[in-house]
Formats: sequence, C-alpha cells, structure tokens
Amino acid sequence: MMKVRNVAVGNLTCKCNNWLEHWCRYGGGFVPKNCSEKSCNNSDLVGAHVQKNDSLDNQTYIIPLCTAHSHQREVMTIMDSRALALANPDKTCGGY
Ligand SMILES: [Zn+2]
Ligand SMILES: [Zn+2]
Repeated sequence: MMKVRNVAVGNLTCKCNNWLEHWCRYGGGFVPKNCSEKSCNNSDLVGAHVQKNDSLDNQTYIIPLCTAHSHQREVMTIMDSRALALANPDKTCGGY
C-alpha cells in the first residue's frame, strides 16, 4: 500500500487544461471512476499534488482525488493500481 500526503501548491497550473488531464497524459491513461484513496467511492475528481509519505523520494506527483481528499491534511493510503504521474512540468508538459 502506498501512503501519500497532499502538498499545497495554490493555484499553480501547467500547460495542460488541468492537473487531472496532466495525470492522464503522464501516467494515468483515462480518468478513473472514483477517488484514489483506497476506500473512497467519490467521483468528484481533481488532479491533486501529493508526495510519497514513507520514502526518500521527495518529488511531487499528481493523483486523482475527490475534492474532500484533495483537502485532507492527514496521510492517506492509495490503491495500488493507481499510477502516480510526475508533476514537474519541466519534465512533462513543458512548463507552468
Ligand atoms: Zn501538464
Ligand atoms: Zn476521496
């Protein structure tokens, strides 16, 4: 099980229409039916900025979360089948 926590980035945007589209293009494929939190069935998804909790990897990733989970401050567990997409536009879509 992967554990992640939200990172605050304000209204940061990239060259994709939104961060959910960014996730689809750089890792996810198609927009999923529900939130990536392991037991959540909410479908009001946004592309949330997260970091892995128990890892030396301090890169920021995008993952689809419902609005409520995208605002959660506590560490949450993500379903294993959900891909993480690298957030950094310099390494993906080309810039902010
Ligand atoms: Zn992008
Ligand atoms: Zn959720």
